[in-house]
This record gives sequence, C-alpha cells and structure tokens, in this order.
Amino acid sequence: MELSIGHLYPDLLNLYGDRGNINCLKKRLEWRGMGAQVIPYPAGSRIEFEKLDLILLGGGSDREQALVCQYLQQVQKEFKEWVENGGVLLAVCGGFQLLGTYYQTETTRIEGLDILNIRTEWKPGRLVGNTVLTSSMFRSPVVGFENHGGRTYIGEHTPLGEVSYGFGNDGSSGYEGVLYKNVIATYLHGPLLPKNPEVCDYLLERALCRKYGEHVKLEALADELEHKANRYIAQRCSSQEK
Ligand code: GLN
Repeated sequence: MELSIGHLYPDLLNLYGDRGNINCLKKRLEWRGMGAQVIPYPAGSRIEFEKLDLILLGGGSDREQALVCQYLQQVQKEFKEWVENGGVLLAVCGGFQLLGTYYQTETTRIEGLDILNIRTEWKPGRLVGNTVLTSSMFRSPVVGFENHGGRTYIGEHTPLGEVSYGFGNDGSSGYEGVLYKNVIATYLHGPLLPKNPEVCDYLLERALCRKYGEHVKLEALADELEHKANRYIAQRCSSQEK
C-alpha cells in the first residue's frame, strides 16, 4: 500500500518545522512496510488533487498567506470538492485560517477557501506558547506550540480538542482546532505529528481506508520515546501557571 502526500506551498508556508509532519507521515508508513510518494507543490505549480491522498497546508506569516491566497483562489472549487469527497487534510495555523471564509489581518482582508464555516480576525497581542489539548478522539493529550495574531471563531464546527493549557482558537472559547470530515485543522505547530503519533496514525488510517477500503487497520508501533516526550510536555505544562 502507498499514499501520495501533497505538500502545498512549502516555499511559502514553512513556519516552525511544519514540514516535519511530512517526514513523520512518511516514516510511520515505512515502518509498517508501506510507501509514501511526497509531492511538493511550490507556489505557481498545478496541484494534482486527483492523485493526492493526503495534503499538508502549513502555516505562514500574514504576508505569505496573502500570496498563497491568490494561488488557492484559483483552485478553490477543486480543493473544496476534494475535501468533501473525503480527502485527508492537515491544515496548520495559517493553513487553518485559510480554510475559512476570511482572515481579517491588521491591515487587509485575506479571502479564504470557504471549506470550513469559520472566520479569523486579528487582534493585538499574539497568542504564543506551548499548548495542551484533550480530545475525545485520542487517548494521549495533544501537545504543540502556537503563535498567532488571528483569532478563529469556529461557529458550529466540532473542535479538535479542549484547551487544558495555552490559548487555542481565540484565547477565550476553550476550543482548539476543527475536525471536519477527514480534515484536522489546528493552530499547533511544533511540528504536530512527531509530538502526537496518535494524530499521525489517525490521518494515515483515514487516507488508507479511503484508498483501499474501510477494513485497513494500522498495526501499533512501539512509540515508547514518542509517548514519553508527549507525557513530559503535558506534565510540564500542567505543573505551570499560564
Ligand atoms: N499569520 C497568522 C497569524 O499570525 C498565522 C501565523 C502562523 O501560521 N503561525 O495569525
């Protein structure tokens, strides 16, 4: 079994090691005897949605997001259709914001893809620091690092998790991220997946099931060190005042 993984705009959306998510997806397939074809799509290239099983849309500065927005608007319909048909997408921070209706920055309005019914508005004071979530989807806490000026309001959407440490989507709702179909959208950089192998396996399993049938089940990996690192971060945060 093999998955095609598209990395969108790695030349622009490249904050805080988001590309580490790609390495993690690839490695965890390889460790199970499966393969990954990773296809980078730099700005201006044609995204071959028809051949992609999984997409990473990473984070970027407001300036880079405004550039990416121009490219994404050209493929809005195809991208939305791909998501509605169960395409597996990890969107991080700036990428998360771009899935919504708009991102109103300090100076300009960046049009989103309208894939999620969410909106983002800039406010003074960046929300920066380590973050810990609890999510009914995962046994371990989800840990990461956030750094955003935008506040995202997710309306009726299901959040990825509830914030037990950090700020989350808007600094006050107590929610972080969005889960929608096979999309995980989140503010968590770090990168997210090496810190949270359960989240990585969830994405891989969704993509494999979509391609090969719902019977596909990933075998467990040892993950002793990964769990130790995850627990260490969660405990360190829980013993600190915010
Ligand atoms: N530019 C966006 C913000 O500041 C997203 C930043 C990011 O991807 N870390 O809100």
